[in-house]
Amino acid sequence: MRIGTGYDVHRLGDGEKLVIGGVLIPYDKGLIGHSDADVLLHAIMDALLGAAALGDIGKHFPDTDEKYRGISSVKLLETVGEMLAGSRFIIENIDATIIAQQPKMRPYIDTMRDNIAKALGIEVSQVNVKATTEEGLGFTGSGEGISSNAVCLLSSADELTDQSVTVATSDGDDSIRSCEGCSGCTYTKAPSEGKKDSKKDGKKNVKKDVKKEAKKDEKKDSKKDRKTKNKKK
Ligand SMILES: [Zn+2]
Repeated sequence: MRIGTGYDVHRLGDGEKLVIGGVLIPYDKGLIGHSDADVLLHAIMDALLGAAALGDIGKHFPDTDEKYRGISSVKLLETVGEMLAGSRFIIENIDATIIAQQPKMRPYIDTMRDNIAKALGIEVSQVNVKATTEEGLGFTGSGEGISSNAVCLLSSADELTDQSVTVATSDGDDSIRSCEGCSGCTYTKAPSEGKKDSKKDGKKNVKKDVKKEAKKDEKKDSKKDRKTKNKKK
């Protein structure tokens, strides 16, 4: 498991669009930036890149590059998702907070979560977005700007497939087998199928398989115990 954190701030200005979490929010001010200044998605991207030790958004999408002028940050988030997949990382979950005195974020939160999950190819249940004010204090409280922070957890597909598991074998001896030898692991059987989901299923199935084998072993032991007890009688 790897953890990442991200933080971003943008200044509010007149005549700008307010786009947060990929949602265009009706408001008399908007965030100023080189891209669409989506403060929430920028914090999330930094958290994801941080967890993967891939630097930050400034490194990958520099604000000196004209091709990123006015670009939708959803597109950039999709690119970050592809970079993580390329490095064989699986997103476990994302938790993010928007800090803004105004406007109210609640009506837009679920759409933001949908946008983030879709861009990254993960389930909505893996994404949490919260909003808070700073009680009128500081630059968010005075309405000068909006900030956001985010944390995420990643797991590495390589770590999941490389792990060895202790499995009780049919002759009653415990032996160490690699994940390759596990009959329940769909990921190692078909690495090209289903990608993210099958990796997860694989992880769950390894656990299930170990449990099943352990149960079988328990049953066998209790049978043996009964037999020896009967013999003693
Ligand atoms: Zn930003």
